[in-house]
Amino acid sequence: RPIVYWFRRDLRLADSPALVAAARAAGAEPIVPLFVVDPRAGRGAGPNRWQFLASCLEELDRQLGGALTLRRAPGVGGAAAVAAIVAGFAAEVGAEIVVASGETTPYGRRRDRIVAERLAAEDRRLLLLDTPYCVAPGRLRRTGGHPYRVFSAFYRAWLAEPVEAPYERPAARFDALVSDGEATDLVDAAGRGYDVSPSWWRDLPLGPAPHLPAAGERAAIDRLTQFCESALPQYDRHRDRPDMAGTSRLSADLHFGTLHPRTVRDAARKTVEGPALDRFLAELAWREFFADVLWHRPDAAWHSWDPIGRHLAVDDGPQARERFTAWARGETGYGLVDAGMRQLLSEGWMHNRVRMVSASFLVKDLHLDWRWGARWFLWHLVDGDIASNNLNWQWVAGIGTDAAPYHRIFNPDRQAERFDPDGAYRRRYCADLPARLSIVNHKAERAEALTRWAAAKAAVRHESTAD
Ligand code: FAD
Repeated sequence: RPIVYWFRRDLRLADSPALVAAARAAGAEPIVPLFVVDPRAGRGAGPNRWQFLASCLEELDRQLGGALTLRRAPGVGGAAAVAAIVAGFAAEVGAEIVVASGETTPYGRRRDRIVAERLAAEDRRLLLLDTPYCVAPGRLRRTGGHPYRVFSAFYRAWLAEPVEAPYERPAARFDALVSDGEATDLVDAAGRGYDVSPSWWRDLPLGPAPHLPAAGERAAIDRLTQFCESALPQYDRHRDRPDMAGTSRLSADLHFGTLHPRTVRDAARKTVEGPALDRFLAELAWREFFADVLWHRPDAAWHSWDPIGRHLAVDDGPQARERFTAWARGETGYGLVDAGMRQLLSEGWMHNRVRMVSASFLVKDLHLDWRWGARWFLWHLVDGDIASNNLNWQWVAGIGTDAAPYHRIFNPDRQAERFDPDGAYRRRYCADLPARLSIVNHKAERAEALTRWAAAKAAVRHESTAD
């Protein structure tokens, strides 16, 4: 019997244990590759991520010799619609087994449960292997079986896990088997999945970004090779400098699975050792930590992990929206924040240091809800990822795991002096900008943020004594 291979966040042929297993199960029979465009899974993603996905799929289809079948779930259908499509496809091609790489997001897990049930009802099976992580979320536990709450302890456990070598690309025969009567134009089908942004974003720049990175497995491997040859040896010294090409820029590849982190980790270990390697592995582990946190606390995607977040007063109304608009357009008057927000609009990516500074500015200088900013980032970022994005936002806001002391509030000018000392980064994105007055006074807003924090803390104390 042929085997259906359902591609999701693993848009590659190399280093894929699930694909290896599918090839073994198929034997002499073909593997029938399927991708389901699922607007529910891409909810909140703007054109940048959809375009990147479409390019990944185009290349994947080329690698599969044109055998990839693309089906599109209706926007509102969610998991049940996807289940109907996968089950219908398996029946059409006469497959009993559907193989896929495991999903770990709250929606992905729910959807896979529903798909598995639907297939089981028809005497078929969904076989899930591997995840988009080196260590599957949910696997590492503290003594007593409790989930990790602090990165440093998680990281020690993560490092101690045995490292698998990357898997070879299997020798398999791919065949579409059925001619696809539905949308065969990948770009068009993926592009139609756009979500609706909040209506008051109407006048804001929603993309697409003019300078998106090259997408697909080949481009990802090239990026990894280039990074190992150039920036990795100085990673620990240059990673915080937005004016330098000091980081890997592999985040979108890891998100869509054109590379597995196993491959990245293996390449890094073979290239360097010492502080550069340690620092790089720690960043890969942050990604895995946040996926682990979300695994245990699916509600933490949009509700603050720490109860204090529920009590923190945020601004709303027309002035708050005006301030958000200035932030989103890169017109706050703070050079590093503005350059970052403009890099986001132009490339669908922003340097990590600047993500931290601009996120902090939204929360602590503008006193806006972190979710507004998280949503804007998710819309534009090519690497937009519910775990990494939303838990990093909470980390910056001081309401997530590992909360840094709240009074450590980034001063955007001081950050610019330290990490963009010659102003090269700011000039690159804001050269055409006339010098403008800052929309707020950092010193005054810092004091305001601390007052609100103290009030929230008192409210939490009150709540716990009232219990
Ligand atoms: P490198 O420095 O080369 O790091 C290698 C890889 O490690 C990255 O590709 C990424 O997968 C992972 N990584 C690095 N730093 C972090 C981190 N702090 N948290 C989690 N993973 C990390 N990353 C995303 O992938 N998607 C997001 O939606 C996202 N949103 C963010 C929002 C905010 C407010 C902040 C502060 C950070 C966010 N990050 C997000 C984390 C980080 O900024 C990016 O992963 C990084 O900038 C990507 O660039 P790079 O690939 O060159 O990173």
